[in-house]
Parts: sequence; structure tokens; C-alpha cells
Amino acid sequence: SDHSDADLLAGLNPQQLDAVTYRGSALLIVAGAGSGKTSVLTRRIALLLRRREAWPSQILAITFTNKAAGEMRERVAQLVGDVSRGMWISTFHSACVRILRREAERFGFTKAFTIYDSGDSRALIKRLVKEHEADAFGFTPAAVQSRISKLKNELQDAESFARQANLADPAERVFSEVFGDYQRSLQKANAFDFDDLIGQTVFLFRAFPEVADTYRRRFRHILIDEYQDTNHAQYSLIHELTRPLSGKGAAPEPYASNGMMIFEPEPQTAPDAGGEGASLTVVGDSDQSIYAFRGADIRNISEFERDFPGAKVVLLEQNYRSTNNILQAANAVIGNNFDRKEKKLWSDRGAGEKIVGFTGYSQHDEAQFVADEVDALHRDGMPYSEMAVFYRTNSQSRALEEILIRAAVPYKIMGGTKFYERAEIKDALAYLVAVANPADDMAVRRILNRPRRGIGDVTETTIARFAEEHELSFRDALAHPAELGVGPKIQAAIGQLDAVLTEASAIMLPATGDVPPPTVVAEGLTLLLSKSGYMDALRASRDPQDEARLENLDELIAVTREFARNNPEGTVADFLTEVALVSDADDLDDSSGVVSLMTMHTAKGLEFDAVFVTGVEEDLIPHRISAGEPGGPQEERRLFYVGITRARTRLHLSLAMTRAQFGEVSVAMPSRFLQEIPAELIDWRQSPGDINSRGSRTLGGRGGFGGSGFGGSGRDRFAPRELAKSDRLKPLSTAMDKFPNRVTGKVRDNGDLELSAGDRIRHDDFGEGRVDQVTGEGAKRVAHVRFDSAGMKKLLIKIAPITKL
Ligand code: ATP
Ligand code: MG
Repeated sequence: SDHSDADLLAGLNPQQLDAVTYRGSALLIVAGAGSGKTSVLTRRIALLLRRREAWPSQILAITFTNKAAGEMRERVAQLVGDVSRGMWISTFHSACVRILRREAERFGFTKAFTIYDSGDSRALIKRLVKEHEADAFGFTPAAVQSRISKLKNELQDAESFARQANLADPAERVFSEVFGDYQRSLQKANAFDFDDLIGQTVFLFRAFPEVADTYRRRFRHILIDEYQDTNHAQYSLIHELTRPLSGKGAAPEPYASNGMMIFEPEPQTAPDAGGEGASLTVVGDSDQSIYAFRGADIRNISEFERDFPGAKVVLLEQNYRSTNNILQAANAVIGNNFDRKEKKLWSDRGAGEKIVGFTGYSQHDEAQFVADEVDALHRDGMPYSEMAVFYRTNSQSRALEEILIRAAVPYKIMGGTKFYERAEIKDALAYLVAVANPADDMAVRRILNRPRRGIGDVTETTIARFAEEHELSFRDALAHPAELGVGPKIQAAIGQLDAVLTEASAIMLPATGDVPPPTVVAEGLTLLLSKSGYMDALRASRDPQDEARLENLDELIAVTREFARNNPEGTVADFLTEVALVSDADDLDDSSGVVSLMTMHTAKGLEFDAVFVTGVEEDLIPHRISAGEPGGPQEERRLFYVGITRARTRLHLSLAMTRAQFGEVSVAMPSRFLQEIPAELIDWRQSPGDINSRGSRTLGGRGGFGGSGFGGSGRDRFAPRELAKSDRLKPLSTAMDKFPNRVTGKVRDNGDLELSAGDRIRHDDFGEGRVDQVTGEGAKRVAHVRFDSAGMKKLLIKIAPITKL
């Protein structure tokens, strides 16, 4: 067989070859960015299949996003042909949903369970916090949600928490009650939150060894990408799956009682269907661990050898992605983390272009730089799809978008479109949930008065009480309008909603045995939205926003059609699963031919010819909330490392001297990470072209440079790393003196500007406003300005881009 798999092994370096061909129970591949970890996983799968060492159905590969899963599947198909049937390549969450849909009936759920996204569980927690008056103890819904999530990632459930918590402490007691009620509400609604998908699967395997055995028999090769970002629950899941058979219970039955195939029966000839634990391959880079805030635990990597005795470890050191200037910068930055194992990463791709650095006056100026560079690269022949712009926080995308739109650069925000978070989309999905999972009270309550039917809070409470008294779900209570003691109009409205849901259920949930048409979800959704009057209400509205809402609903219906094409046997529950698991990096749209905008977190695992890392400032990267947290700055450094190692040939690092954020304009300081990059690797550049031609491209209230006295086209270079470390401790005004304006070489200084209450001013970003008061002295004078449209802002007069009118 050596001959026939030569193509799979071609071009691999010796360590990669070792990793692809090693056969043993546990393999750990640790390596820096771009060294071929993901490629090696893919080749390993291909080789197992090509050599018939494994059946497709015996492989479980876990990726960090659905998008990455799709890419891996495609790549495997390119290498060995279409073998996708039966092979599981998916995220942890998707894999667990598939398992739970089959098994949830064992522990009090049904197949049609709903998946609560973070917004759904926030809403539920908010209600419980209110009910328990937990806010009196300083609990916000967000804080409760994040604590519950952390506990679940540690596999602590409400009961185990209650057992070991100090319930004498009233705050702990109330938290424990909220946690318990939250879990009971989920169970009652036949719903899992995101963390439950993993945790409950682990629970299932531990509580039902014969079920675990089914999956242990099935998955003989488990491969996991981005292992550094697994949390304890995921780690436990892997452990459960790789254990030897418990031997309890009979061999698995591949067919359900209705004759439907649950999984491909294992052929008698299947290789390695025995009782040994599955082989486990994990790849990761502890320097790219960036999800500690979600419970990711680097120790899963560092302790792999202890947990899987006899494991083989392969190190990859050659980077195939980036040119050396980029790689050296990355190595230098990450070298500042004291708690890491030294790795030498090298590349034979030559030095390449220098890194381009740019300091803008404001974030708009910075965005203009990005747009100009994108434009220049594109004119040189680089496709837009090979360029990406990264930022630390989603709010930074606004300024970038504004300028990209003006510059007519096609772009797409990854993970930022929030299509599924729009109210009308949530409403439409709630209609589907009400049909698929009538136990989900929250969904039914959501659509109760959408569109407006004159059903208010009082009626909602009446229905809820009726449901409780008669031990019905909220949905089933709707079938008894006449018994609720409400007026005839409301009775009619409730009866109508009940009828619509019943009619849709008849179409969408056919009796067992009947095969529904593939378009069942599209048809059901269309019926629900029209017969409920939802569409009509939007059409009748004069609000131009409602026009857009109708278009969004059309888009959703288009998504259901697409779903039908890809999943001819897909049910409404399958559709809702797919929607619930759309993650940041996933996109239902085609993103070819456009520049990608995304956070650095979303960028993990991806690569582009040209990368722009923007907002390289203190308080952004490292982010200010991380500064005080243990390990925070190190994690931020890893995030920055992830960002810069996405670039193949062109890396741009940019920042702004002032940034409007958190409602105020503040002075921005260069990120400490910039100083960690050797100076000779960065070419600090000013904006291309002269100021006047730039001004003409700049529209809107920004005012341009001319208006604020920043003319000229000097060619001074400015590297913010000249800022000495000690300057960070000095008052802002002193630090600002080290920020020469990049065009004139002078500091912007409004020091002499006289301002007092009542004066009218114009601000480059916020437009016109009236000074309310002036506080502080000298360089620290602050104007409190009430802007005509932007509201109240506090501005440091010395540097604010303002003119007195
Ligand atoms: P990250 O840490 O960012 O996830 P990675 O280690 O998973 O990176 P890959 O994405 O697998 O790295 O590989 C990086 C790039 O190098 C890809 O474009 C891949 O095709 C290429 N590559 C990997 N191995 C080789 C090789 N032996 N020869 C040529 N190119 C390679
Ligand atoms: Mg990778």
C-alpha cells in the first residue's frame, strides 16, 4: 500500500510524517502557529481511511468551529474521495447534540429538546434573579450566568454545588437556589443550555455505561484540534470516550425500533472493533490558549502525558505559513510570557516584507489607513478574500465599517452580523420551537403577543397559573381559552394562536412512519408567519425598519430552503440545532471576494495573505478588564500572538492616538506588546498620499485634518515604542508629549483654547455641542459637553479634536 498512499505523505517533514503515521493509543502534537497541526490531523484521517485501517464511521474528529469542521471534511474528501457518510467531523457541541438527540429520552428529555443560546439563558436567569431578589446580594444576571457556566464547565451541577456550598451564607444560599431553579426550568422546558450539551453528555456516559460503550465501540479514532482550549467538561468527555469498554449491557443496536438506521452497523470485517480504548490524537499550542475565561485549561495539554500513559509526543517546529519577519515578531512577543515552554519556530519562506506600523490620530484615521492599504494591495492583485482585519472588541468594527463603506471596499463581519439575535428572527424561531418543543414555555410566552393580539401581562400570568393548576405546559393551556376567565376578544386571540400552532404541528411533526417532504420546515415556517398575522402586521406598518424585518424573515425562509437541500430528511429540531450552533466563525453566507472583519478570538486557526491588527493599544490589547486578573496579561499576549500569526506575507499593526470608547474620547497608549517586537522588523509609516487628497475622501462630520490645523505632508516617522515604559506611569499630558503628530511632528495642543460653560464647539467625531462646564486645570482641563446628537461626553481639552464656534 506504500505506493498508493505516497500522495498523502508527500511534502511532509519528518516530524509531520511521524505524526501522520504513528499508530498507538495516544498521540500529542504540540507546536506553534502555522506548523501544520491541523494539516497533520487531516492527513492522519485520510491515511486511516485510505489504508482501510478505519471505517469512516469509526472516526470522530473535533474542531473548534463548524466552519473548521466543514473545511476539514472537504479536505479529507479531496484526499480520499467522498467518504463523509458516517464520519463525524464536528465541534464538541454538535457532536454532543447528535448524541443527546438519540439518548436524551433516557433521562427525562425528548428528542425535540431546545438549545438555549446565551441570550435565552440570560433571559431565564434574569427572571429567576428577580424572583429570588438575588440582586439584593449584588448578583446581576450576567454574573450569575457566568458563575453557573463556570461551575458547569467544571461538571458541577446544582445539587453538587448545594452540597458543598456554605449555605449559612445568605448570598450563597440565594445563588444556590437560583442555580437549582434554573436547572429545573431547563428540564421542564425540555431544554439544554450550551454548557449542558457537554456536561449532560458526560453525565449520560457515566450514568449509563452501556450507552457509553455504544460510542466507545463506534469511535475507534478520536482526533481533536485546538486541544489547548478544551475545558474540564470536554476533557472528561474525551476521557469517557477513550476508556476501554465497561462490558455492561449488550452490543449496540444500530436500528431504532421504527427501523430507522441510527448508525452504520459495524461490518464483521471492521478493523479494530475490539475492547481496547480508542486511539486519541490531540493537537494544540499552549501559546494559543485564549479561552481561559470560558474555562479552557492549559493543563489539559501539559498533563496529557500523565493522563495518557505511554503517549507519544511530537513537536513541530517548521512554520509553513508566515515569512520570517512576521514569525520573528510573533516569537519575540510570546517570548515575554514567563510561564511557557520555549519553542523554536522557523520558516524557510525568507524575510519577506517588513511589518507595517501606523499610528492614526483617531480611530477614523486608523480605519482610513486600513482602507487605503486594502485598496493598494487589491490593486496589486491580492484578492479581497485574502485580507482580514482584526480587533479586540466588537465595538471597534463600527469605525472600520464606516470608512470601508465609503472606500467601496467589500467586507463582511464574521460573527458580528448577529442575524439570529434580531428580534424578528428570534420571534420566528420561537414559533418553530413552540411547534417542535411545546414544553418550552419561554418560546411560547415570547410569541403570545407577537404580533400584537391584545394579550397583556395579566393574561399571560393567568395562562401560566392555569397551566400550573392543571399541570399543563403553557402551550397546552392555550387550548383552553374558554376556561381562563378572560374576555371574549382575548379568548378568540388565544384560540387563534392555538389553531395556528396546531395546524403547523400537523404538517411539521407527521405521525411516525410518514416521511415528511424535505421542505417541511420552510412550509411550516411560512404557514406560521402568515397565519399568525406576523407578516401582515409588518407589511401594514409604516415603520421603515419593518421593511427590513420582512426582508430578514424572507432571508430566514431562504435559509430553511437551503437547509432542505442539504438535509432532505432534516426535521424542524435538526434545523433549530443547526441555527443554535452557528458560532462566531461560521457563516451561512459565501464570504469569497470580500475582506473579513473579526475579533482576534474568532481568527483562531485561520490564515490570510494580509492581516491588519488594529487598535494595538493599552486597554484594548491587553484589554483593560484583563489587566487585574491573574494570568490576564499573559492570555492577552497569547491572543495578540494568535492575531499576528494569521498573516502569511503582509502584517499591519495599527493604533490610534485617541479613541472614542465607552462613551468618551480618551487618550490611547501604544500597547506594551508593540515594544516587544524588535524595532527593525517594523516600518512605521504615515498615511499614503498627501493630506489634501485624503481630505476629499473623508466625508461626514470628521472635519478632516485641514480644519483642525494639521496641514502639511511631513515625512517624519513615528514609532510609539519610543515611549519609555516609565511614561505609562506619568500623567497623561506628559505622555502625550511623546506622541508627536505623525504628520507635522508636533503634538496637537489645544492648551490655549479658552472654553467655558455655554460655548458652542464642534468635535470631529461627535459634531456640534454646548459646553456644560469645565473642570480640572492646565493640561488636565476637561470639558463636559452636551452634544446635539451624541449626548453628554467628557473631553480632555488639550487633545480633543474640537474647535470653538
Ligand atoms: P494554527 O496553530 O494557526 O492552527 P496549524 O499548526 O494548524 O496552525 P496549519 O493551518 O495546518 O497549521 O498549516 C499552516 C499552513 O502551512 C497551511 O497553509 C498548510 O497548508 C501549510 N503546510 C503545513 N504543512 C506543510 C508542509 N509540510 N508543506 C507545505 N505546506 C505546509
Ligand atoms: Mg490549526
